Amino acid sequence: MNRNMELSGQSCEHLLWHPEEAHQLHRDALSDYCQLQAAALTDGIELRIASAFRDFDRQLAIWNAKATGLRPVFSDGGQALNLASLSDKEKVYAILRWSALPGASRHHWGTDIDVYDAAAIGEEYTVQLTQDEYDQGGAFYPLHEWLLNAMDTGRSRGFFQPYAQDRGGVAPEPWHISHRPSAGHYEQHFCRDWLESVIVGSHIELKAEIVDNLDDILRRFVDLPKESLSEKGG
Ligand SMILES: [Zn+2]
Repeated sequence: MNRNMELSGQSCEHLLWHPEEAHQLHRDALSDYCQLQAAALTDGIELRIASAFRDFDRQLAIWNAKATGLRPVFSDGGQALNLASLSDKEKVYAILRWSALPGASRHHWGTDIDVYDAAAIGEEYTVQLTQDEYDQGGAFYPLHEWLLNAMDTGRSRGFFQPYAQDRGGVAPEPWHISHRPSAGHYEQHFCRDWLESVIVGSHIELKAEIVDNLDDILRRFVDLPKESLSEKGG
């Protein structure tokens, strides 16, 4: 059984390619996503994937690049932080605000997707996935509203938003949707000791600080609040 490999993004066997977009999704999420796309299109929204399945090595590369200063780490205000002025523990928490811990990303499962509206932008526009774009006045505000309405009325094909609110951990991600019927399976099997073994066995930067603070990291950045676990519909 390679469930643990799927859980940590180290298996592709449960994935299918989207017929038109260059992204892989969980085989049980693909047709619901395509139906969500079709429903959005009838309201003038061209739902597109910015990111779907992301494997462990990709997430590890992002983490290590941030931990070593090769990629910027941003503050809540959007300014690049001076990593050299932070303790190792502060570095871990600063990175976690915007990037998932490798092994603990919902994108490893193929059940979670970052989406935008291609109808709202020109060809030359580069999608940023920032709060501004999804807030009132932003290009993707109509998509944001459409998704909320679909979820409220049970027409979201099983998709919900695990990071809709700021709980002090992961910054709000209005672009991130998760397919409940296929993600629930991974949520159930995800556990602390398994994650610790994945972290210890990897070549991750700041490993000691991650392991020392793993319980707190899980509480703040990984565990979902109870209310988001009971899906409203669809
Ligand atoms: Zn995401």
